[in-house]
Amino acid sequence: MQIVTAVKSVFDKQIKYVIYTHLHGDHVYGIASFPSDIKIIAHANLVDNFKNIIEPQLKDNIEIRIPENIAKLAYLMDSIPNKKSEEYLKVYQRYNALGSYLGELKEVKIQYPDTTFTEKFELTLGNEKIILEFLGSGHTNDNIVVRFPKQNAIHTGDLIFNGTIPYVIASHGATIKGWTEIVDKLVKSNYKYVIPGHGKITNNDAFKTQSNYFKKLTGKVVELKNQGKSLDEIKAGIDINEYGLKGNESQFPLNIEVVYKEL
Ligand SMILES: [Zn+2]
Repeated sequence: MQIVTAVKSVFDKQIKYVIYTHLHGDHVYGIASFPSDIKIIAHANLVDNFKNIIEPQLKDNIEIRIPENIAKLAYLMDSIPNKKSEEYLKVYQRYNALGSYLGELKEVKIQYPDTTFTEKFELTLGNEKIILEFLGSGHTNDNIVVRFPKQNAIHTGDLIFNGTIPYVIASHGATIKGWTEIVDKLVKSNYKYVIPGHGKITNNDAFKTQSNYFKKLTGKVVELKNQGKSLDEIKAGIDINEYGLKGNESQFPLNIEVVYKEL
């Protein structure tokens, strides 16, 4: 809804198209807020990803996972004798937050794209051309970028996490090798504005930063592996603070795991 309001505050025009940059729920669950006659565009792989990943995941979260976690928190609240303690308050807040998240998830309606493409797709809006492109699997196997040549701008979807640890989920087609290649290619275009999937709008340096993170992490994993260390030892042996990123810290060991498995 925030996007629809923001667009309306800038353009006095009807929204015609929505582009899904990739399958992930935080980028597609809000579609019901858009006018019902919009056309959705996405990469062809997203259709199977919705069917095989997103729909079952949403169902599982609504019916099993989240209700289970809510029940656990309720049980925990019961077991805390002092209902005015800080400990109780913290659990109570988590309980409430999860409850409203579950409510929101129940409102989600998955909408499949109207148009898909595999390599490149061009949209003409007024006197402006917008280019959608798939540069290979990186964050997912359906991650596309959207170029706005007139503004020298690009929306990268989640190929850029500005300032946070990236989500790298191999079962969604993520590959750190592929991801690094894509950002190394994009850096050459010298964009003035880079709109990331997460974090603030940034500039062309974002590609270098994303690439350097993966290269530094890969270098460290290789070094420790060559010393004969196991995956668990490698995870324990790498200091997250050396990477200067804040947020999604729980993803760091999983990033290491993907690097390790790709070696
Ligand atoms: Zn994502």
